[in-house]
Amino acid sequence: MVKAKKFVVAKHFQNEPKPTDLQLVEEELPSLQTGEFLVQAEYLSVDPYMRPYVLKYPLGITMIGAQVGKIIESNNPKYPVGKRIVGYLGWRTHTIVNPQAYTEVDLISQKPMILPDIGSLSPSLCLGVLGMPGNTAYFGLLEICKPKEGETLVVSGAAGAVGSHVGQIGKNVLGLQVIGIAGSDEKCKWLVEELGFDHAINYKTENVAVSLRKAAPAGVDCYFDNVGGDISSAVMYQMKPFGRVAICGSISSYNADASSLPKATILQPTMVFNQLKMEGFIVSRWADRWSEGILKNLQWIREGKVHHRETVTKGFENMFDAFVSMLQGKNTGKAIVQV
Ligand code: NDP
Repeated sequence: MVKAKKFVVAKHFQNEPKPTDLQLVEEELPSLQTGEFLVQAEYLSVDPYMRPYVLKYPLGITMIGAQVGKIIESNNPKYPVGKRIVGYLGWRTHTIVNPQAYTEVDLISQKPMILPDIGSLSPSLCLGVLGMPGNTAYFGLLEICKPKEGETLVVSGAAGAVGSHVGQIGKNVLGLQVIGIAGSDEKCKWLVEELGFDHAINYKTENVAVSLRKAAPAGVDCYFDNVGGDISSAVMYQMKPFGRVAICGSISSYNADASSLPKATILQPTMVFNQLKMEGFIVSRWADRWSEGILKNLQWIREGKVHHRETVTKGFENMFDAFVSMLQGKNTGKAIVQV
């Protein structure tokens, strides 16, 4: 009999999540039925979307999230023992999976996938640059911003999992001028000195509008927005005519409720007079091209064009701390938990 640990949602998050919002419980798993297999978690992801997304679900569910795990028992020949899978199994150490049970209606109901062959790279990358965040960067930048060589790209949340990859594709693959916005001098130094960004702005210590005007006096063609709020308004007032804005996320608002949403400068004037195009997206839009993104990102890693960093928290019990630390900006690159 296998004992699983899991975090269940005891209280819906309000403002910054509190440790008592989640409860760590143990359960005994039953024997496998035909077609099922048992997964032992190795790496779990903590991502910003979890904060707003989980509110859609009733109390008592297992906290949502993706993990990379190893199949340790199987009654399904398509998922043999020893293989690794990546899937939205939630914050659990052990999970019985029935691949027939997935509806695929949204990101977190996608069927678990056997990991692609990534050679000697860490399987944990399938939660980051070779997984959902990597594909978010790839499709969001190429399909929504549609940048052209020589253009200027600004990315906010630039030192995180998605942003750091967006900037590197922009700079090292597409030949754009790339400016990142991030929350510390250390992160800004990493972006410029190690990842090749042309410039980085610390939004906590600098006036974003003033620093951006200096870094891109001719204006901005593409803005990849991970944060929303006034950082984004400042960028959008410096767009060139016919600029394109990809709205990927709005983390500056995730810990707010409807009554306390941060106020930001009105955007309509710059959108009209600069004839801007702004489009939100969810990466599952490209579910049918998922492998294309992963293979491209893998190729760029192997060619040395893109680099990746992980902020690893050890121990399943520390999932909550890792989650809140990521929301507070303590991660550089992808935040993950190693069991
Ligand atoms: P990150 O690795 O970027 O981690 C979150 C980062 O957000 C923190 O490190 C912190 O960095 C920054 N942050 C926190 N609070 C604020 C704030 N108030 N203002 C500005 N920055 C803040 O996470 P991801 O790369 O996984 O996700 C980045 C964004 O992309 C999120 O908004 C997420 O929801 C979105 N996303 C959207 C997807 C889609 O399909 N549309 C898919 C995946 C992600 P700092 O120190 O710089 O403040």
